[in-house]
Amino acid sequence: MSTKTANIYIENFVNNILSIRNLYHPSVKMCIPVKAQAYGHGAVRMAVEALAAGVEYLAVATAEEGAELRANNIRCPILLLSIAGKEEIDAVVDNELTSFVHSKEYAVLLAQSAKKQNTRAHVHIKIDTGMGRIGCPPDQTSSLAAFIDSCKELCLDGVCTHLSVSDTLDDSDKHFTQNQIKLFTNAVNSIVSLGIEPGIIHCSNSGAVFLHPDSCFNMIRPGIAAYGYYPNPIIAQYMQSKYPDFTGLKPVMELCSKISQIKTIEKGQPVSYGRTWVSESNTTIATIPMGYADGLHRSFSPGICVSINGKKYPIIGRICMDQCMADLGNDDSINEGDTVIFFGPNSNCLTADDFAAAAKTISYEVLTSIGQRVKRIYV
Ligand SMILES: *Cc1c(COP(=O)(O)O)cnc(C)c1O
Repeated sequence: MSTKTANIYIENFVNNILSIRNLYHPSVKMCIPVKAQAYGHGAVRMAVEALAAGVEYLAVATAEEGAELRANNIRCPILLLSIAGKEEIDAVVDNELTSFVHSKEYAVLLAQSAKKQNTRAHVHIKIDTGMGRIGCPPDQTSSLAAFIDSCKELCLDGVCTHLSVSDTLDDSDKHFTQNQIKLFTNAVNSIVSLGIEPGIIHCSNSGAVFLHPDSCFNMIRPGIAAYGYYPNPIIAQYMQSKYPDFTGLKPVMELCSKISQIKTIEKGQPVSYGRTWVSESNTTIATIPMGYADGLHRSFSPGICVSINGKKYPIIGRICMDQCMADLGNDDSINEGDTVIFFGPNSNCLTADDFAAAAKTISYEVLTSIGQRVKRIYV
């Protein structure tokens, strides 16, 4: 039995997928990214549950992540959201991962590997319309499409782009996103005008799913929303006012531990490394076996509270590698071995957004940081 656990509420994951799907016409496909161990939730199990909920596509960030899904008998199309290294190309083709393609040179590598393995490689053209990360320039889309079309070992299954500011309500960001979508639409049309079938057309991450619903084309790729968080808390308020019927997102992960020691200390006594926290009165301290090596970043303290038996208590002093301390005040109802909740779906504890705010980061980083020592328990 572990004292570091993450309860994964499958019911909430399914609720989020179905709620998002309900915002769209049933013909719009869903691709759920399960990269980075499904944002920390566990890739194989979340992949299985997403498919059971009717999702058509999965996405991963590395060839190894794709291979893990295939080794666990997951047979649906799996999109590789990055450019593989030369040494990974054979594994990409062998595992039947659908590759992003950004250049003719890369298309050639895939085609050569496919030929060697006596198969075809499935690809989506990735266009860089303003993210500045991976993709071909919009004006090279049609020549790349023509080249792919001429390679009998390659099969063009789709065309896509990625949006960099689809998650803010700022006017200049909205304008930038609309321009990305316009460049993308024109690039797709340049493929169609060659008489080449572009396949599945997609660009919507979670931000666009909520803020740019008219631009879903024929597939959406929401990641963080499936795991129960809006890309930022402002969108939560926006959705509540704009779509009162939207059933909302429910956090999927609940991060828990158990108190290892309770002790009383006197006024003036320091707690943890650096003596950054000193008690202002006699008080009770709980030591909890969860630390920065488990993903509880040092920068969370001060700022976060934990929930014990339904009440909140502040984490005080520096978070250590494997442990942290909470100030229980003069509460004597709490015992060693009691369950501590860091964040999760219940209203009496904080959320990953609250933790992110304390460390000036985003829920994505909080969730993907939860370490391998934390046992995932599927509820
Ligand atoms: C991770 C990723 C997504 C999902 O983004 P969210 O903001 O989590 O919805 C979509 N598309 C690409 C290309 C990605 O890398």
